[in-house]
Amino acid sequence: MPQEVTEVAEAPSQPSAHVPVLEVEGVAKAFERPGREPFLAVDDLNLRVDDLHGQGELICIVGPSGCGKSTLLHLVAGFDTHLPPTRGSLRFLGKPIVGPSAERGMLFQHYSCYPHLTVLENIAFGLRLHAGALGITRKEIHEVAMRWLHMVRLQDSDAGKYPHELSGGMRQRVALARCLALKPRCLLMDEPFSALDEPTRLEMQELLVNLWSEIEATVILVSHSISEAVYLGDRVWIMSGAPGTIAHEFTNIPVPDPEVPAMTAQSESRFLEVLRTPRAEILPILADGSGRCTPVKEGA
Ligand code: ADP
Ligand code: MG
Repeated sequence: MPQEVTEVAEAPSQPSAHVPVLEVEGVAKAFERPGREPFLAVDDLNLRVDDLHGQGELICIVGPSGCGKSTLLHLVAGFDTHLPPTRGSLRFLGKPIVGPSAERGMLFQHYSCYPHLTVLENIAFGLRLHAGALGITRKEIHEVAMRWLHMVRLQDSDAGKYPHELSGGMRQRVALARCLALKPRCLLMDEPFSALDEPTRLEMQELLVNLWSEIEATVILVSHSISEAVYLGDRVWIMSGAPGTIAHEFTNIPVPDPEVPAMTAQSESRFLEVLRTPRAEILPILADGSGRCTPVKEGA
């Protein structure tokens, strides 16, 4: 864990020393196109996520296809396909984002498992890669990987299987375990459950809610489902497109109870109540991708 974060946590009486986990200021990203004007994918992105130490925050992003959700996540991940932004700045724990980092894990929609590695080797992959920096032995890597195998509800008998022997949901569990084994401060999830069938999607949502206390990280999750976003998110950002920007933010969303199944929780009146306003406000944005609304105030 970085030194400056420990210092911030131990000095609550000095709010001026507080460093947000993520700061995005005036960010735009235009992609070059041969023989044509560059394409402005996102513009005027201004975000701040505070470092809720030992707790984290789960933020969901919803928006029409092509509005720049993945572009935003890739910028935060620090992928060289997207850095530097065309305008503006991105800072993670107070430092400019100049490349990828083990502190910012990324989970993609399509199961990012290495096909030639077993389940356990996949989970241990990042730990092996960063073993020197983490100062961990082979034995410790094995122990941590086994722990995460169990944490994502896979069995000992799955450890030696290859990805092609697993269902989509199981492969996504492996990818999740590989990210979480590195204890990232921020987990970026790009439509992680969108390719799964409905029961598996609900199972994975429950798993995330159950792992929440272990993760202790900021999670930014892109979802195509408003229900999923409101169920999982502490905050929900709605993006509008052409170019993409945050059009709307929902806060004060009920916290899911890990004891209650996702399907039951999502039909509880407190969730339906919250969903009613977003649906009315969000659907015009999602329909044409260009709507701009004033953020809805609590209780409005
Ligand atoms: P979303 O994830 O919201 O569906 P993306 O962030 O993937 O949207 O893409 C936003 C827009 O930027 C799209 O129009 C897409 O075609 C364009 N885009 C994304 N990546 C690139 C790239 N590397 N080069 C050119 N255009 C891109
Ligand atoms: Mg995308």
